[in-house]
Amino acid sequence: MEELRHQKTQLTQEHEAIRAQVQLLLSSLADSVKRQTAASGQLGGNLSEIRAYQLRMYDLRDGFNQHIELDERLITHLHLGGAGERLGEEHQAIRDRVSQAVHLVDKAVDHYLDQITMAEFRSALSQELAAIRVQVESHTKTEDRLFGSS
Ligand SMILES: [Zn+2]
Repeated sequence: MEELRHQKTQLTQEHEAIRAQVQLLLSSLADSVKRQTAASGQLGGNLSEIRAYQLRMYDLRDGFNQHIELDERLITHLHLGGAGERLGEEHQAIRDRVSQAVHLVDKAVDHYLDQITMAEFRSALSQELAAIRVQVESHTKTEDRLFGSS
């Protein structure tokens, strides 16, 4: 079926884009950790950095949610049985992780962050994103394999 093949290709391409998006966020966090000694405790600077992450995390979350919906439609359509159920569980686990990370950023926006708490914030968000990356990489690769073979 032509349309089905098209859907699989599209989702596989989106997987690649999602992996790149997570990777990009992680690298820009690492960059700002490198710069953090240079920028001396300006609250305005910190807040605009956090707000930038907030927007990017919202983007990531919304992109995930949209993508997961399409994934699940295809998975249902392919009747993958147990493998499909596991993918559904992984989707939930990824969603939970992402909302934890969003919560972390939302909380940071509402609070004054000095240099030390800002460093803690960057490190906490890095850890969340690193965990998300591991989950997303293994999950999307499983899907790519299943979508490619079924
Ligand atoms: Zn998926």
